Amino acid sequence: MTTVRSFERSEALRSHAQTLTPGGVHSNVRLASPKIFFERGKGAWLWDIDGNDYVDYLLGQGPGFLGHAPDDITDAVTEAVRRGMVYGAQHPLEVEAGERFLAAVGWADQVRFGVSGTEVVQGALRLARAVTGRRRFVRFEGHYHGWLDNVLVTVRDHEATAASKGQLDSHVHDSIMLPWNNAEALEATLAEHGSEIAAVIMEPIMFNTGAVLPRQGYLERVRELCDKYGIVLIFDEVIAGCRVGLQGATGLVGVTPDLATYGKAVAGGWPVAALAGRADYMALFGTGEVNHSGTFNSSVMSAAAVAATMRRFETDPPYERIRAHGLALMDGLVELGARHGLPLRVQGLPMAFHASLGEDPAPFHDFEGLNKRDLAGYAELAKLFAQYGVWVAGRGIWYVSAAHGPAELEEALSRVDAALSSR
Ligand code: PMP
Repeated sequence: MTTVRSFERSEALRSHAQTLTPGGVHSNVRLASPKIFFERGKGAWLWDIDGNDYVDYLLGQGPGFLGHAPDDITDAVTEAVRRGMVYGAQHPLEVEAGERFLAAVGWADQVRFGVSGTEVVQGALRLARAVTGRRRFVRFEGHYHGWLDNVLVTVRDHEATAASKGQLDSHVHDSIMLPWNNAEALEATLAEHGSEIAAVIMEPIMFNTGAVLPRQGYLERVRELCDKYGIVLIFDEVIAGCRVGLQGATGLVGVTPDLATYGKAVAGGWPVAALAGRADYMALFGTGEVNHSGTFNSSVMSAAAVAATMRRFETDPPYERIRAHGLALMDGLVELGARHGLPLRVQGLPMAFHASLGEDPAPFHDFEGLNKRDLAGYAELAKLFAQYGVWVAGRGIWYVSAAHGPAELEEALSRVDAALSSR
């Protein structure tokens, strides 16, 4: 179906929702999206309450890596939770989940499960401060590490400020903000401040603003510098983990961090995050010297979801299929852009790529480069795609799942074509 749809029921429900919930949404990330109410998701498809269908390339901002409601994971979780949900104690499934997860990512000795990426990032930073006895950390322009006070920032002209009213400004100064993919900038900062820095935290592939790979040799240099100054290197793999390959970005780039955070793709859509790392650092949680807690950590539901997701990766790894789909989709979008006289650019990896509008066809390598694109123009385009039945994020990221096949590819491209024709 490629005609413009009606959203009457969503609009009515949105008006009602706004009386109950600020902005009608439960996460501020959704404030800028079309306020569509979905009724159902299966595989690569979504259906809204007006009966419109969508090929989904947003995947709930990433968790739907195996598609919506994957039968094997749903069955495993349902069967497990019939026996109970939260014990405030241990259960065998969490051991299986931990073992399979560590085998999948390959490099880490130990893991703690949590619920959200935001909280495991905080666990990693706390652990790094405990290990080093230092306070500050280095982070990078355009990288997102959750919504809490010490990591949420707005960057303008390389200056980081609190992004939210009510946020403690002082926490923003716990970190030094640097341009990413720039070894000289890190080198110069550490030459001056190296002995004060507990951690360097980054997305090893920058997915939150663009889909940008590290430059040749950059991460190796970061690793060397962290070793030189006794700094804990944290990779935030909440998006990349188990998505860009089973071993995540760490496997792809061949550089090993000390700690890494995971979420989204590791649990087939269920709310699970993980903090993994070196045994000698992780041991501080085990002795109780460093606190990491949470009522819902490794619930039966989440352990079952992780274990089943890892089993799926072992028995039916989706990476080659996703790669083929993603590459064809990227090519198709560029071609449609050209045919409609639109400077549509794509870059990144087929599992998660970034689309933008810009006259310069060369890929960008950092946050500054992204900001030279027509971001507002693309956000409008994403809304138009939604009206024509392709559900994508306004910030340009396209996620491909194990459930996207040739039929979805053809349908998505024909819908994008129709959307572009309507302009
Ligand atoms: N780190 C990264 C790299 C992320 O992309 C996100 C979420 N998009 C987070 C941390 C925070 O995760 P959550 O939304 O689950 O708290």
